[in-house]
Amino acid sequence: MRALAVFPSSKDIRVVDHPEPRLERPSEVLARVLEVGICGTDREIARFEYGTPPPGQDYLVLGHESLVEVLEVGDDVTDLSKGDLAVPMVRRPCASKACIACRSNRADFCLTGEYEERGIVRRHGYMAERIVDDAQWFVRVPPELQEVGVLLEPMTVGAKAMIEAAGMMGSLPWLTDSASEHRAKAVIIGAGAVGLLAAMTLVSREFETWVWSREPEGSPQGRLIEAIGGRYRSNADRPLADLAAEVGNISFIFEATGVARLAAEAAPTLGPNGSFCLSGVFSHTGPVSIELGHFLRTLVLRNQRLFGTVNAGPDAFRAAVQVMGDCVRRWPRELASLISSRHPLEEAPDLLRGPPVGTKSVVRIAS
Ligand code: BGC
Repeated sequence: MRALAVFPSSKDIRVVDHPEPRLERPSEVLARVLEVGICGTDREIARFEYGTPPPGQDYLVLGHESLVEVLEVGDDVTDLSKGDLAVPMVRRPCASKACIACRSNRADFCLTGEYEERGIVRRHGYMAERIVDDAQWFVRVPPELQEVGVLLEPMTVGAKAMIEAAGMMGSLPWLTDSASEHRAKAVIIGAGAVGLLAAMTLVSREFETWVWSREPEGSPQGRLIEAIGGRYRSNADRPLADLAAEVGNISFIFEATGVARLAAEAAPTLGPNGSFCLSGVFSHTGPVSIELGHFLRTLVLRNQRLFGTVNAGPDAFRAAVQVMGDCVRRWPRELASLISSRHPLEEAPDLLRGPPVGTKSVVRIAS
């Protein structure tokens, strides 16, 4: 069958004839891949800066954001059947008995770093005609999400961040009471796919939601945010400190750029009892100046928390299915508009090598 493979040693990316996967255990599911989204991680792998083929193999089948349709299930599988739509999770547990996170089915918090990630680290991904995996790694999505289901995995980033932040915010009832006139205020930094999906998540959860990003205020991203009831401000026009003065107490900052300078600029704007989540994957950009003593003092004196998030577990996938269901009912056009283009598999190598165009390019494998 056809699959898109990255060959790190020869620095090649091409469609290959990859072995057909088959059901080997009664707990497994065979699915055909409908669509695969392309994100920054895929582009990094395509630049040969990240990603690892499975042991002993010279290529890695790319792709970790997908929507699939179940073709066949093993005898022990009860919660999925032929014809169901599903999204497979990305990370698989490490083998260490000592890793309590993986042994508790929370590979997203793996302690050893020896996990595998489909399409990223040591396991082939989803940019292939068919895949097989254990049923526990698939999350069923309702048919009304067919058009946008490929966005579920990037939506889990914000979903997981909110689950984590809720630990603190949930204990402060006035922050989560949507009827309150003091609605919790959230600022999202970055209007890429992860940032826009997080904005939809926060608006649908009744946060007063602001997005601060580099695109101009009349840009498609800016208009989309305003159309769903959020507020958009361009960082070309104003520093975050100005925006913070306009917003008032910021309870939650969700960073989705991976730009250290922006994260440093955002830190002092977080309000009392606020949570600041970093989700962008930062690169080494050299020193960024921050008055660390002041920042840490404020963190303590204002009961703030700063945390990073990567990957998503079953709870975030399930939460994202719920939120996506709400979003598709409230903003069907806006949600679908995040998918900026769809391409056949043959175009994937050029797509991966070229600059990102639009919010989300998707490779259509079967329809
Ligand atoms: C994926 C995550 C993964 C991370 C690090 C992201 O692009 O969405 O599932 O854990 O890359 O490899």
